[in-house]
Amino acid sequence: MSLLAQKNNAINLSQGFPDFPIEGQLSTLLHEASVSGLNQYAPMPGLPALREAIAADFLTRYGVAIDPETEITITPGATYAIYTAFTSLLQAGDEVIVLEPAYDSYIPNIEMSGAIPVPVKLLPHSFRPDWNAIAAAITERTKAIIVNTPHNPTGSVWSAEDWNTLWELLKDRPVYVLSDEVYEQLLFDGRQHYSVLQHPGLRERSFALYSFGKVFHNTGWKIGFAVAPPAMSKAFRRLHQFLSFSVNTPAQWALAQFIGSGNLAKPAALLQQKRDYFNSLMQHTPFRMLAPASGSYFQLYSYEGLSDMSDKDYACFLTEQFGVASIPVSAFYSDGTDHKILRVCFAKKEETLKEAALRLKAVA
Ligand code: PMP
Ligand code: GLN
Repeated sequence: MSLLAQKNNAINLSQGFPDFPIEGQLSTLLHEASVSGLNQYAPMPGLPALREAIAADFLTRYGVAIDPETEITITPGATYAIYTAFTSLLQAGDEVIVLEPAYDSYIPNIEMSGAIPVPVKLLPHSFRPDWNAIAAAITERTKAIIVNTPHNPTGSVWSAEDWNTLWELLKDRPVYVLSDEVYEQLLFDGRQHYSVLQHPGLRERSFALYSFGKVFHNTGWKIGFAVAPPAMSKAFRRLHQFLSFSVNTPAQWALAQFIGSGNLAKPAALLQQKRDYFNSLMQHTPFRMLAPASGSYFQLYSYEGLSDMSDKDYACFLTEQFGVASIPVSAFYSDGTDHKILRVCFAKKEETLKEAALRLKAVA
């Protein structure tokens, strides 16, 4: 969709990335790192200063103690961390429960190990977990489940109670958890993020996966990290050693300095303002907003009643004819379920959001 947007000179609300600048201090630090000679390989698990800064930050914000030496591995982005975590766990024939709609890399990453994705749909409308369906999907061959909160593409979030319910289902079974928490800093209306790391039982069997791109608005830096108990981290690092071995040194150093000097990001207020601004403008268009996003930087809109086209065709039509690109939500379902819903990314400058809403007002 980004490509189609470019081709049509359309406003790109499809792919999730901010179009506003990052903190100037971060760019300065990146430059400083390189100028001062930090241009060679970082240690395999990541720069100690960055891992220590993450551990201190998680202790402050979540009250969880993480050993930076044995439990944190810096990765070239969260997509890589998801792949590596799956590959460290899975054998051919293992089953993995995926809650759909789901971020597009999960299923291919599972299949790359010869394992079998078992899609379970979230409840329609609320996009909350369907616990009966999840329980019914668990078999002797279930090796893992992947959870994503705040959720791409629906913006729904998990409560502490959801983690407890998952624990009740899994506690007597050898099932691992991948918890994709890349949007952990993007929760709105006073909501709080519940990390799998805060659940003592689940934490023992979980990979928690993060991306700095979502926190500092620098998705192109492609730096993330994986948190897991020492034995799981060891297996993860065995692969990491031969996949990328280590991660961009100047960027790690810049992030470590930035976080270490107390510059803890607070992107939620900014993104909540953008969500509300965009949603208020969209009231003047014929599109129907689903529930306002609880987290992430995505909002769902229905075009039901406007067209009978498939969501994919309609997203292309809007891009080509009205100059606004979005993502058809069917892309997040392995069976192509089409609810006639589009995902838009509101991590954009006000002028971008304003112009997009203006163009969408013209849709009849
Ligand atoms: N998981 C989800 C749910 C995402 O939306 C993204 C963003 N593309 C990622 C993982 C990957 O993050 P990264 O850009 O760090 O690979
Ligand atoms: N997370 C972003 C999205 O869902 C971008 C990731 C990608 O383009 N692969 O749009």
